[in-house]
Amino acid sequence: MMRQKIQFATAAAACLLLAACATPSDPPPPDVEVPVPLPEGIDFDPDLSTEPPDDSCDPLASYRPGSVTAEEARETLAEPDLVRIGISQSTNLMGYRDPVSNDLSGFDIDIAREIAERLMGSADAVQWVPMTSSEREEAVNSERADLVVRTMTMNCERWQEVEFSTEYYHAGQRLLVQSESGIEGLEDLTADHQVCTGEGSTSPGNINRLSEAQPVTVPDFNDCLVLLQQGVVDAITTDDTILAGMAVQDPTLAVVGEPFSEEPYGIAFAKGNTELAQYVNGVLEDMIEDGTWAEIYERWLATPLDQPDPPPVTTTYQD
Ligand code: GLU
Repeated sequence: MMRQKIQFATAAAACLLLAACATPSDPPPPDVEVPVPLPEGIDFDPDLSTEPPDDSCDPLASYRPGSVTAEEARETLAEPDLVRIGISQSTNLMGYRDPVSNDLSGFDIDIAREIAERLMGSADAVQWVPMTSSEREEAVNSERADLVVRTMTMNCERWQEVEFSTEYYHAGQRLLVQSESGIEGLEDLTADHQVCTGEGSTSPGNINRLSEAQPVTVPDFNDCLVLLQQGVVDAITTDDTILAGMAVQDPTLAVVGEPFSEEPYGIAFAKGNTELAQYVNGVLEDMIEDGTWAEIYERWLATPLDQPDPPPVTTTYQD
């Protein structure tokens, strides 16, 4: 197991204070091995497929809004007076609890609040359901959540299990490292490098396919940050949006290299609930047109991503 050596400095300091307890012939303070606490469920050698991703569908193609009304969409909810929304509450910038206000905050949260307001007539008629990446598909299909807005990539594999809205943000996978590490991109990773990433994400498969490095997975990718700070891993890899949020928290870290995957974000619904997907697609179209989407982008991502202008968001439908 990983261990970190620390000097037993407290005892030495105490001795200095009590001057009388040290004599010139005392041995130096002992090295003490303190185990680094590791997150539950960490896997240093996950079993990952090296198969190329399924490209048998157009992952961006959702359902044209049509004429589904808010009332019709509400009838599809597990409880018509309350919308349950799956989110992250620990991903800085995207979905997190603001330590000052204690409010849920972030890009995904504001997108979700806007949908709730237009669907329910009030952003208060929401029950937030925090979850990790691996819980998203099950959450919508078990009615634990009516929809999930949680940095979720739309891909053909997931389309088998859930319905998706049209794309509401286009992310890409990158690397986060200690600024002094000398790692400047994917090409600098060797088999000796350990790269932390989230289980149930697209990220472990991508890094496994595209580099020599050893992926290390944790149930919640947010736990990777401490592991990088402690030196247990050499890098973190996940979406640029999430890495930007970690870099804001620790200025000694840097996001490096070019994006090496396409991570189009969609809102997920239970398989078969195409009516709710249609309604939400109408809301997303309105938000893009009336400037709400750009405002949310500017509030959360423009500065951390160093991309002041909102990128284009395009709606794509199956017909
Ligand atoms: N967007 C990627 C995914 O949906 C990685 C981020 C995450 O796990 O939420 O798998």
